[in-house]
Amino acid sequence: MSVGVVRETADGERRVALVPKVVASLVSKGVDVVVESGAGLGALIPDDEYTAAGATIGDPYSADAVVRVAPPSDAEVGKLRDGQKLIGFLAPRNAENQIGALKSAGVEAYAVEAIPRISRAQVMDALSSQANVAGYKAVIVAADNATRFFPMLTTAAGTVKPATVLVLGVGVAGLQALATAKRLGGRTTGYDVRPEVAEQVKSVGGQWLDLGIDAAGEGGYARELTEDERAQQQKALEEAIKSFDVVITTALVPGRPAPRLVTAAAVEGMKPGSVVVDLAGETGGNCELTEPGEIVVKHDVTIVSPLNLPATMPEHASELYAKNLLALIELMLDENGAIAPDFSDEVLASACVTREEVSA
Ligand code: NAD
Repeated sequence: MSVGVVRETADGERRVALVPKVVASLVSKGVDVVVESGAGLGALIPDDEYTAAGATIGDPYSADAVVRVAPPSDAEVGKLRDGQKLIGFLAPRNAENQIGALKSAGVEAYAVEAIPRISRAQVMDALSSQANVAGYKAVIVAADNATRFFPMLTTAAGTVKPATVLVLGVGVAGLQALATAKRLGGRTTGYDVRPEVAEQVKSVGGQWLDLGIDAAGEGGYARELTEDERAQQQKALEEAIKSFDVVITTALVPGRPAPRLVTAAAVEGMKPGSVVVDLAGETGGNCELTEPGEIVVKHDVTIVSPLNLPATMPEHASELYAKNLLALIELMLDENGAIAPDFSDEVLASACVTREEVSA
């Protein structure tokens, strides 16, 4: 069994699919690892750290399974061969993805986004590991763009009140944002349409904002709101948002455009110098005034919509992602160390988005 680690080519992508520690683990299980030269450079890992861990530097596409972070480009799909395995973020729910092309090429592709969110698969849950990075960094970005402190300060020159921070959408990223904002000294509040989240918000020291809407959907995800619910939510949030210095939004509904939670009027109602960090920019944004990938100032409020925040912390993001992949690869190995995915296992059956008898 051999695994190839590619050098990522997507704009701004600094993560790498495997780090040397994980390479050493695979090598100890009899797996050959081939790393493309320079694959780790974005995460500050030179080739010689990979060779010291037992990898060889060479063509990753010569391996049985190719591992990567971002979805492949057309040219990269062209390098994969019939029967080869591919593991990475493959955006299976995006309207535009490479799943069709991978299927036509006969590639057996595993999308980490499709790993079920069940307890047994937590160790492989790359959506969660990377959302944790994004939630943390969102707070740092907010603090960087704020005109005010996060913590309360008592100084000889006077006392500064703590920042009030509202997190809209409390999944993995939102919960980490609440915890990080609290550690920075902010006064935190969380809101979600899944009422079960209230306890989690409180467990990280936040207040729960209850707007009386329950939109818990399947599998722990939210469902899309009806038009009436959306109008009710936007109106209630418009009122609530006024009292916050920082609003961090992370609300997503799988396969749908990001819900609009923060209207232009809500931004207008915020105090000058306040900050909105919108993590939903990739699917259109939770704030009406968001410009994905940009920092804009509207009504004296700074609205930041960073794309791919995990790539801005490539060292730890890669380390966590590599551990997710290690667990997934281990699940694919048989007792002789050969790659032999057992599709009666729901984790592998769900994660595999293209194989002979499965439609994409
Ligand atoms: P996500 O990224 O899909 O969405 C982020 C949050 O936005 C969710 O909490 C969602 O409820 C919320 N949201 C959607 N529409 C909204 C709206 N209109 N207003 C306010 N909030 C809105 O979520 P995620 O981080 O991927 O987590 C999804 C679920 O998976 C959660 O229940 C989480 O606890 C669960 N999970 C389970 C495991 C596990 O057991 N292995 C691991 C990770 C996550």
